[in-house]
Amino acid sequence: MALGYTFAMIKPSACRKNHVGSILAIINQAGFRISAIQSTKLTLEEAQRFYEVHRGKEFYDSLCEFMSSGPIIVLLLQKENAVKDFRKLIGNTNPQMAEEGTIRKMFAESLQKNAVHGADSDENAKREADFFFNQRERY
Ligand code: ADP
Ligand code: MG
Repeated sequence: MALGYTFAMIKPSACRKNHVGSILAIINQAGFRISAIQSTKLTLEEAQRFYEVHRGKEFYDSLCEFMSSGPIIVLLLQKENAVKDFRKLIGNTNPQMAEEGTIRKMFAESLQKNAVHGADSDENAKREADFFFNQRERY
């Protein structure tokens, strides 16, 4: 059975540009309920651990440096088919290939600074949610 939630982040670039409110409004309008939310900042080591699966890729070091460069918003989002529907809402990793109306199309600055993160599977949604939120922080 599907998990019923996904894990998302608003990346440092989008936070710096004050796109947080606009992005949260789009998420709510798309039918996601915010089950947990926190403003936080990753250390370099935490970013490296979060993006462990990409270790060794040419963009890994730069990505981890960027993701630890400033505050982020971390989110637990509840909806049926949350993982799949949220990936659809954010659009392609590369904003130049993202469809009109997607969050990345609207708010990304570049392939790296693509505004938002969304878990790509139920397994990763659980792992990523557990990375940030304890049970008392989820409602
Ligand atoms: P997604 O975030 O869509 O799941 P990936 O898991 O493949 O994409 O990559 C994680 C993040 O790493 C991307 O969101 C993006 O910020 C960055 N990234 C991915 N590929 C590249 C690349 N070729 N060059 C620079 N940054 C990249
Ligand atoms: Mg990914």
